[in-house]
Amino acid sequence: MFLGGIWKRGSGTTTSVIDPSDGRVLQEIDNAVVADVDEAVLRGSAAASDPQWRDMLPHNRARYLHRIADSIESNAARLALLQSFNTGKSLAETAGLVASAAGTFRYFAAVLETADADLTTPRGNYLTMSVYEPIGVVGAIAPWNSPIASDAQKIAPALAAGNAVILKPAEWTPLVSLALARLIDESGLPAGLFSVLPGRGSVVGGAIVRHPAVGKVTFTGGTTTGRALAHLAAEKLMPISLELGGKSPTIVLDDADIELAVNGVAYGVFSSTGQSCVAGSRLFVDASIYDVFVEKLVAKTRSLTVGPGRTPGTQVASMVHHRHRDSVAQFVDLAREEGGQVLCGGGIPQDPALADGAYYLPTIISGLSNDAKVCQEEIFGPVLVVLPFRGEEDLVAQANDSVYGLASGIWTRDYKRAWSLARRLQAGTVWINTYKQFSISTPFGGVKQSGLGVEKGRAGIAAYSRQKSIYWGLDEQPNPWAD
Ligand code: NAD
Repeated sequence: MFLGGIWKRGSGTTTSVIDPSDGRVLQEIDNAVVADVDEAVLRGSAAASDPQWRDMLPHNRARYLHRIADSIESNAARLALLQSFNTGKSLAETAGLVASAAGTFRYFAAVLETADADLTTPRGNYLTMSVYEPIGVVGAIAPWNSPIASDAQKIAPALAAGNAVILKPAEWTPLVSLALARLIDESGLPAGLFSVLPGRGSVVGGAIVRHPAVGKVTFTGGTTTGRALAHLAAEKLMPISLELGGKSPTIVLDDADIELAVNGVAYGVFSSTGQSCVAGSRLFVDASIYDVFVEKLVAKTRSLTVGPGRTPGTQVASMVHHRHRDSVAQFVDLAREEGGQVLCGGGIPQDPALADGAYYLPTIISGLSNDAKVCQEEIFGPVLVVLPFRGEEDLVAQANDSVYGLASGIWTRDYKRAWSLARRLQAGTVWINTYKQFSISTPFGGVKQSGLGVEKGRAGIAAYSRQKSIYWGLDEQPNPWAD
């Protein structure tokens, strides 16, 4: 682990970290224990309150973020390879995630260069201003699906805002976070400001959230875990940001460009092998084009190349772990029991070369209504359910009939219909004639049970700051009780 500037072997449980493309054990990781959390928080508190860091001018703090970005960029190929080994993802995808991580550090460095305090409108003979101050120690708990990119989305704004950060990566995927810690250590960031503690969620993650000196937690993961952490945060009255699950609707209207929409829908759900919080996993197609569209989508899906992430041309790589693959398979069995028809996929590939990996074929299911379990629960794998709709009211009612509200997509040539629908969908993000494109300058977050608060954009840095209002009295006798 990287404990506030010190490299240390863990004394907790051991995790065998695997390459899910073939099941090989890559490394045994000795996990952190609760005492390591205490030490990381102690070091983090000391480093965050050191005047050298606390009072550092924003443009000087920005230099540290630029140095980390430089270091990620000069090690990009190595990080992308490591990430591909540990998550099974294709090299094309992991290269994108590494580039996004570097871009995130640069973006928040730029925000620091341009951030202003607010001078607010006076309501008397005084000046009022609002300044942003660091919180102290921030706990960051990350999922396994896009490490380095999701790590950076938490670490960069939290450091930029002047805090110390303790990162707990997911148990299955700690390697790239530890590699990032090595780069951050070498970049010269003052010791104590950053720690990476691999370990069990309930042990290490729980200790971070409960610790009295941790002033903010940012969590990305499942809704059940997020809700449990929100309860712990409530006990301390601590702010917590939650980026949680989704069951995002993608919508194809009758005037859509069919070829574009087929490709976009397939990419939106099957890229990252469906292991994406924003995966467009419920597809609603206008009943008048349903049969034609679904036929083309099934043909496209059957043509996707399934294989190891490090083989050039792979479009659907292995899943992150065999245990997760098995849970996806159980959902497809459930869909069959509920009366769903599996139009393609629905099992593991027959190719003997893939037998040891955590593969699952991209799968399309029809014949269910939106209240079926597989339409309501997040599967987090390459599984799409397709449903017809008749008219806008029916569409909006079905699309919004979900506990989740993370993302959605609309395919249409009619910008007025797109606008009206975009405003009616209960989702944090709406993509129109595109899907899964991301910008670090655009806030991202979920509504309903998909989360609380936003990451990215200028709002992303405010999430790690405390706002303080300052009044400057201008009257000779400002208060009424003067003698
Ligand atoms: P998870 O909730 O099981 O775990 C996420 C993290 O929380 C891991 O680091 C885990 O060790 C930790 N954790 C688990 N139990 C804990 C506890 N009791 N106390 C403290 N920490 C604990 O989720 P996962 O399976 O790693 O990730 C998949 C989920 O993440 C999916 O639901 C997906 O939708 C969601 N996700 C959301 C976003 C988003 O931005 N909205 C992005 C990616 C993934």
